[in-house]
Amino acid sequence: MAVPFRKISKTRRDKRRTHFKLEVPGMVKCDQCGELKLSHRVCKVCGTYKKREIIKQ
Ligand SMILES: [Zn+2]
Repeated sequence: MAVPFRKISKTRRDKRRTHFKLEVPGMVKCDQCGELKLSHRVCKVCGTYKKREIIKQ
């Protein structure tokens, strides 16, 4: 396998890693309970989406 000719500097290595994220982006506040949830997903806390109950408690 080919091996990199030069060592990549700390700056270049770290610049590449600026795209690494720990969490999935797109967190919004739930309309019903105000908890953080993923947008376009049913809220796990209160089980609603678009003001309608999806998950029956
Ligand atoms: Zn909620």
